[in-house]
Amino acid sequence: MTLTRKAFFRLTGLALLARARKNLSGALTARRWAMLIDLPKCLKDQGCIKCIQACHRAHNVPEFPERSHQLKWIWKEPFEKAFPSQQSEYTAAAFHDKPVLVFCNHCDNPPCVRVCPTKATWKRDDGLVMMDWHRCIGCRYCVAACPYGSRSFNWLDPRPRIPQLNPDFPTRTRGVVEKCTFCDERLAKGQLPACVEACPEKAMLFGDLEAPGSRVRELLRSRYAIRRKPELGTRPEVFYIL
Ligand code: SF4
Repeated sequence: MTLTRKAFFRLTGLALLARARKNLSGALTARRWAMLIDLPKCLKDQGCIKCIQACHRAHNVPEFPERSHQLKWIWKEPFEKAFPSQQSEYTAAAFHDKPVLVFCNHCDNPPCVRVCPTKATWKRDDGLVMMDWHRCIGCRYCVAACPYGSRSFNWLDPRPRIPQLNPDFPTRTRGVVEKCTFCDERLAKGQLPACVEACPEKAMLFGDLEAPGSRVRELLRSRYAIRRKPELGTRPEVFYIL
């Protein structure tokens, strides 16, 4: 069988797009990163918090007993709270009141970025919504602007409350805001986000939304997916497949 030049490039191009791409320095790259949560798989063991533990360990997230002082990078919300617009008395029993994994949606149209007066939060070209803790002045406009509660403020010094310090990741100080970063520091080293790697059910999938051959796109084509509060126009990059 002979391949035309055009067909060859189309086939090899698709094969490349189907994999997570690494650049010359070994970093994982994408045109637009997205996360998929396979909800039925995730709900198989509702007590599982391996992803949360892995995230908190990797990012020096402190533990405070008082709820109002807690820092949230990745946590669980009842289905009805995570998806208020999907709520109805007819919600399938499989999802009713079930704990749904939530975190920053790395929105394509992020209101948090628009309100930050010091540009301490911004959106990268690959879609990651980033934080520079040194530029954050603690005004909390971003906390108020995020409709998902994905940002937390350090009311107290977090450093004494870190259970096991990871020396490779910066700690924060009292008076700054923090949130999930889709593990940009791990992507730079060619690693997947800590939560994705830790999931025993492989219920979390991270990939390139702009690559037609990626697994993320394949699943979005074949399964029904929802996003949190789509009516707000923030265009979350976290999808939940049902
Ligand atoms: Fe910003 Fe909240 Fe969207 Fe994350 S989920 S990008 S913090 S608006």
